[in-house]
Amino acid sequence: MIREVTMYQAVCDGCRKVNSSCKTKEKAEYIASVWKRWKEIDGKLYCPDCYEYDKETNEYKPKVKED
Ligand SMILES: [Zn+2]
Repeated sequence: MIREVTMYQAVCDGCRKVNSSCKTKEKAEYIASVWKRWKEIDGKLYCPDCYEYDKETNEYKPKVKED
């Protein structure tokens, strides 16, 4: 048989790194945030290489600025 499989992947908005594929959006979000410590900042998703902790504002912020 042939069946359609929809996959969800977390993609870093900083470096475009792709996290593991999951069958549900919820699981993709869970794996990225809980297992891999990715963070959502201002509606965008960043891997641990692309965000840093800002001691002055006590907030996480992206290391790279997007054009
Ligand atoms: Zn990244």
